[in-house]
Amino acid sequence: MLTVLTCLRAENDPRLLVLAVLICGVGVFATMRLFERSLHGDRTARLAWTFVASVVVAGAVWSTHFVAMLAYLAGAPVHYEPVLTMASLITAFVGAHVGLLVAGSRRHAALPALGGIIVGLGFAAMHYIGMIAWQVEGRVLWHPALVVASIGLAAALAATTFSVARGDLGARLARWSPVPLAGTILSLHFTGMAALQVTVAASVPRGADHDALALALAIALVGLMVVATGSFAWLIDQRARIVAAAQLRAAHLRDELTGLPNRAGLMQELERSLAGCAPGEKRALVVVKLDRFVQFVERHGATLADRVIAESAARLEAARKPHVVLGRTGRFTFGIVGSHYPPAELRLLLEQLISTLGSPLMIEATQYLVQPRVGVACYPDDADNAVDLVACAELALERALADPLRPLCLYDEWQDAATRRRHALAGDLATALERGEFEMHYQPQVLIESGAVIGQEALIRWRHPEFGMVSPAEFIPLAEHTGMIVAIGDWALRTACAAARQWPDDWRVAVNVSPLQLRQPDLPERVHAALIATGLPPRRLEIELTESLLLDDRTRALHVLRRIRALGVRLALDDFGVGYSSLDVLRQFPFDKVKLDKSFVDDIEGNPQARAILHAMLALGRTLDIPVLVEGVETDRQLAILRAEGCRKVQGYLTGRPVPEGEVLAEPLCRSA
Ligand code: C2E
Ligand code: MG
Ligand code: MG
Repeated sequence: MLTVLTCLRAENDPRLLVLAVLICGVGVFATMRLFERSLHGDRTARLAWTFVASVVVAGAVWSTHFVAMLAYLAGAPVHYEPVLTMASLITAFVGAHVGLLVAGSRRHAALPALGGIIVGLGFAAMHYIGMIAWQVEGRVLWHPALVVASIGLAAALAATTFSVARGDLGARLARWSPVPLAGTILSLHFTGMAALQVTVAASVPRGADHDALALALAIALVGLMVVATGSFAWLIDQRARIVAAAQLRAAHLRDELTGLPNRAGLMQELERSLAGCAPGEKRALVVVKLDRFVQFVERHGATLADRVIAESAARLEAARKPHVVLGRTGRFTFGIVGSHYPPAELRLLLEQLISTLGSPLMIEATQYLVQPRVGVACYPDDADNAVDLVACAELALERALADPLRPLCLYDEWQDAATRRRHALAGDLATALERGEFEMHYQPQVLIESGAVIGQEALIRWRHPEFGMVSPAEFIPLAEHTGMIVAIGDWALRTACAAARQWPDDWRVAVNVSPLQLRQPDLPERVHAALIATGLPPRRLEIELTESLLLDDRTRALHVLRRIRALGVRLALDDFGVGYSSLDVLRQFPFDKVKLDKSFVDDIEGNPQARAILHAMLALGRTLDIPVLVEGVETDRQLAILRAEGCRKVQGYLTGRPVPEGEVLAEPLCRSA
């Protein structure tokens, strides 16, 4: 090492040395960027970039070597043998090209290091061929150990370079790969030069060679031009990639039909707007939906619907105030982000907007009408972040959609709480079954005469981790909406049948089945499977259905019900008398029991008309020979009236509230009705 440094100080022109180091520095940086680039893209691109990188590194290493040679003041006239000098350049290129191809391969973990060794050996070969071409008037002596050391060092450092570049030593180190490559070139040259000893005869003239300086500058210039060309190629490519990526991102955030920001785009705008909000400042988020547009599409087709949406967007755009951002956030929805005005002013602005959007649209001489509905939320009053603000505005919109008389609704925490809860429940419903949050309660059905229990109605409950016990009246419609009812229904059926197995043999279990479940053609098979799995005799199972399910497709419903009945299972018509009661249903469908809705008993104590209706209903049951059970009996007076009217079976809080399975048998088997 000492020899190397002495040699540097004593025998080199410092200006040319600086130039050599400069070429080397720029060269290695460009080379490694190009090498990284050559790792991506298709095969042709990878080969082309490897070629460019090889040209650049060969140009850099060769001109570094040449300028450094010219810096070396041998103290005697020097001559360069042209063929060998060219050969050294070609060697550098071939070594680099083969080495880079190997180092860039993904086939084996050792290939980067191997490629590096090839590059290093190529450089060494270039150096020593170059040295043979360098002919000096004097005696040249080589120090073999330093020659070997220079070759070994070059191979090792170049191997390190490509291992680092490929991330073998950690992804964060990768960007430092030009450093060992510069080390490769510089250590090779200077260790190689230290191995050289030139003895010049005293008669030979000494001093700086001006031709050498000119030559060095020319070579340095060519070398730098090669490096610069490679670097520019890389820069142009990089720029094109950045522009393409930006265009792709922009396209991703834009709605094609209207040219407005899409949901993601508007979300970004909203986040930006909220972030730029000074303390005390407010922002409004307005969501606009074209009401009943699904029907519009069905009636007029998607092409016309698209034109109407584009027209509506143009109208909104025309009415847009400065600093307000408009976006198309859904198929039929728009979002507007803007400053917040005092409520009265905001209302006025939005009412104008509704009337603009709602005025007739002329398309090809035909008039079309759309009905906009608007929901508004305010930052930071309603929510302190973009996601929650959107949720609030959408809740307000939902209220606007539900109320035909109020097309514009501002978010109101109290008014929108029910909707928020519904959304939360709908979200949690999907996993409630697997988390075992459902449980079954049972309410007795009792004979008035003896007070004997004749069966139990299974009533499902949802023990929600946040909201506590949730009533089926609340979550069954949600389960129907999401289709979860099928799985929940299966669970209910099996749980109820399994419980009933433990009860006295003359008790039935009544299980509620939703209209949606009846739409499944395989419902009879599911019922059968539940009976087989639990071992409950079919005669002990009763399925309760509401009338609404018989409205859809009577023929199919009738078919499914007949098949269930053929299993020996009984059918009960639930909630009779409310909704679309029709006597026809009783005539057409094979019911074994009718359950009169609670509303029939609610008023019978004080209202003679209610009592008259009850009387008629019971008489109807007798005429059609269908047993009638009255639901929702709460007082002794009601029971006494029912008994007087000849009703035989009841179910209600008076004779027993719904209780968990464990408490069913703890209750007395007979009730004093
Ligand atoms: P439903 O089948 O008509 O059940 C009777 C409902 O009235 C039950 O409400 C019961 O707790 C309640 N009830 C009974 N006696 C009285 C009374 O004396 N006074 C008052 N105020 N209420 C009484 P619940 O359990 O909240 O169930 C509501 C509805 O949810 C049920 O009406 C039924 O349609 C449905 N449902 C319950 N469990 C299931 C199930 O497993 N599957 C399906 N698809 N629906 C179910
Ligand atoms: Mg029921
Ligand atoms: Mg009922």
